Formats: sequence, C-alpha cells, structure tokens
Amino acid sequence: MNEIYGIEIDTDGRCYHYHQQNDIVGLKCQRCNEYFACYKCHDNLRDHSFVSCDKNDYPAICGKCRKKMTFDDYKNGYCPSCHAGFNPNCHLHWDIYFK
Ligand SMILES: [Zn+2]
Ligand SMILES: [Zn+2]
Ligand SMILES: [Zn+2]
Repeated sequence: MNEIYGIEIDTDGRCYHYHQQNDIVGLKCQRCNEYFACYKCHDNLRDHSFVSCDKNDYPAICGKCRKKMTFDDYKNGYCPSCHAGFNPNCHLHWDIYFK
C-alpha cells in the first residue's frame, strides 16, 4: 500500500517534526521500501538509520493523493498529479533522502 509512516502522522503525511501546511511528502527508505514522513520518524520507528533512495526509484510520495514520484517529479515543488505544493525548505535535507 501507499502508506506513510510517522509519529503523530496525519492523513496528509504531516508528522510530529514537520507539520506545516505544505509538509505533505513521504520519503522512501531504500532498505525498508516504505515511506516515512521524515527521517527522524523513520529512525524512531525502525532499528536502522534512514537509507537514501535512488532518484529514479520513486523516492517520494504525495501525502494528498499518494502519487509516487521520481526525484525529477518531486523537485518541481508540487505534485504532478494533484498539484499540491511541497515545502521548499526540504531541499536542505535532499542529501539524506536522495542519491
Ligand atoms: Zn528503513
Ligand atoms: Zn517526523
Ligand atoms: Zn498529489
């Protein structure tokens, strides 16, 4: 399923750590093959550290419509399917999430 996991997760994928209006992207750990609201949630919920995901292996998912995105889809800053906008500050953490 296209579930997004996280601490205090809401229906759009916001979590305890990142819960602004546009914090709606789930990020995939390459080891779990599951989507998480953020790496902090992942590291709390799993027994290993977040493993960055290949840019072409659908590393991101839209929390609104659950569209899976390649890095090229995601980096435009909005969902290619439902056009919801994503938090532009996420680029600070791109090295954690994508490879
Ligand atoms: Zn993992
Ligand atoms: Zn989190
Ligand atoms: Zn969407």
